[in-house]
Amino acid sequence: MGYLCGMSKKVRVRFAPSPTGGLHLGGVRTVLYNYLFAKKHGGDFIVRIEDTDQSRYVPGAEEYIFDCLRWCGLEPDESVQHGGDFGPYRQSERKPLYRDYAEKLIAQGDAYYAFDTPAELEAMREQYKSDQNPAPQYDHTLRLRMRNSLTLSPEEVDRLLSAGTPHVIRILMPGTGMIGFTDMIRGEVSFDMSTVDDKVLLKADGMPTYHLAVVVDDHLMQISHAFRGEEWLPSAPVHVRLWEKLFGRAAMPEWAHLPLILGPNGKLSKRDGAKYGFPVFAMNWTDPKTGENVEGFRERGFLPEAFINLLALLGWNDGTEKELFSLEELVQAFSMERVHSSGAKFDYEKAKWFNHEWLLREPVQRLAFSVRSQFESLSSLSSLNSLKWEKIVALVRDRCHLLTDFVEQTRYFFEYPQEVDRAAIEPKWNAEKTSFFHELVTRYGSETEWQAAKLEELFKSLASERSIKPGELMLPLRIMLVGGKFGPGVFDIADILGKEETIQRIGLLTAQLSNN
Ligand code: GLU
Repeated sequence: MGYLCGMSKKVRVRFAPSPTGGLHLGGVRTVLYNYLFAKKHGGDFIVRIEDTDQSRYVPGAEEYIFDCLRWCGLEPDESVQHGGDFGPYRQSERKPLYRDYAEKLIAQGDAYYAFDTPAELEAMREQYKSDQNPAPQYDHTLRLRMRNSLTLSPEEVDRLLSAGTPHVIRILMPGTGMIGFTDMIRGEVSFDMSTVDDKVLLKADGMPTYHLAVVVDDHLMQISHAFRGEEWLPSAPVHVRLWEKLFGRAAMPEWAHLPLILGPNGKLSKRDGAKYGFPVFAMNWTDPKTGENVEGFRERGFLPEAFINLLALLGWNDGTEKELFSLEELVQAFSMERVHSSGAKFDYEKAKWFNHEWLLREPVQRLAFSVRSQFESLSSLSSLNSLKWEKIVALVRDRCHLLTDFVEQTRYFFEYPQEVDRAAIEPKWNAEKTSFFHELVTRYGSETEWQAAKLEELFKSLASERSIKPGELMLPLRIMLVGGKFGPGVFDIADILGKEETIQRIGLLTAQLSNN
C-alpha cells in the first residue's frame, strides 16, 4: 500500500510481451500479478505488443497470447484487441513517434549518432578482446575510438546524415556514478553506471529498441506501475537514465521485478517440459518456423481456475497457510510487497494437487461440460443423457487430478472393459462363488428398483444366506464391472451401468471363471 500513498495517478499497469513464441508459466504469472494489482486498485490492465525486433517476430504468437489470456480469464482493459485511448497498442505501429525522443536526447548530450558498420563493430570486438574482457562493449571506455557523433566533426555528421548513411542512436551512459531505484519487491537497487554499455536506442531501420520504446510507451500510456520478470533487472539502469533524461524521475512508474520460476535444474526452460514430462506453456504451442511443439497446461487437462491459483502461489502468499484462492479472492488478497524476491520452485505434483482441488470445487455441470471435450473418440458419449453424464463425473472426480484422467476413469461406463484383471480373482475362485453370482444375476434380474442402496442390500443378504463374507465377493464384482481394482463404489457403478449391462457383465465373467 505504501507505494500508493500520496499518489494521485490512476493505477495503470501493462503486460508487454514480444510476440516471439508461446507463453510460458512465468509470462502468465507476470500477467496475473499485473491483473491482480490493477483490479485490486481499481486500475487498468493494458497489453502492449512489443514487436520492434522484426527478426524475432513469429506469426501467430500475438493471437496465441490473447487466446491464453482469454482461457485464463485475465481480460485486458486496453489492447490491440480491446481498443482504448492510448493506442496503437502494437509498437511497430508507433514507429514514427520514437525518433523525436531519441533526437531530444542527442540535443541534450545524452545520446549520440553512431555510424559504425557491422564489420567495424566486429573489428572492435576482435581488437579489444582480452582474457579480462572477453566481450568488449560499446561503452565509455571505447566510444571515443569509434565512428560516431562524439568523434566526428559536426560537418561530417551532417554530411553522413544527409547522405542517408545507415546509423543508430546510442545512449551515452556516464562513465562514473551510481544509478538506482526502489523496487517494490527488492527495495533499494543500484548499479554502477560505468559497467553499463551505450545501448542502441534507435536502430538503423528507424525502429526503436526495446529500451527506448518501453520508456516512451510507459510514459505515453501513463503507466503507474511496471511489473516484469527479473531478467529485465540488468536493463533497469538504462531505463532509469532514460526516464531521468526524457520525462523526469518523478514521472517514472514504480517497478517490481518478479522472481524467476525455477525448474528442477535452475531457471525453468521450455525444454524442461519435454525433459521432465510436465507442461511449461499455458496452451499448446507449435513454432511455425521450427515445427517444435511445447505442451500446454490447458491440453494437459488443467482448469484455468487451478492454473491461475497455482501461478499466484509461485512466489506469493497472503501470509497465512491458505492455498486455494479464486480469482476474486486473489484480487482481494494480493499485494506486491508479499511477492518473494527469491526464485519460486515449480513443483508439478503440487500443480496437480491444485487442479484436483479445483476439480472437486467446480460446479458439476460445468465440469461435465469441460470433461466432454476429452472424449472426442468415444461416440457413445454423444448419445449419453446429460444427467447421467453429470452423475458419472461427480462419482469419479475424486479420483482425477487432470481433466484427461476422466477418460480412463469413466471408460468402463461406455464399453466393456478392454482388459479384465482375471488374475486378481482366479486363484480364490470356487464353486460357491459361481453359485453366488448365478443367483445374484437372478435376483438382480427381477429387481425393479434399480439403485445403489438396493443393489447393495440384495448383494449382502445373499452373501449372508450363503455364509460368504461380502468382502470376498466385492473384488470379483468390481473386476466384473470395471475390469480392474479401481473406481468408485461398486454399487454406484452398477446403478449407473443399468440392469441389463450389469447382469451381462456379471454373467460373462462368472461363466468364464467357472469354465476353468
Ligand atoms: N517486451 C519485454 C518482454 O518481452 C517486456 C519487458 C517489460 O515488461 O518491460 O518481456
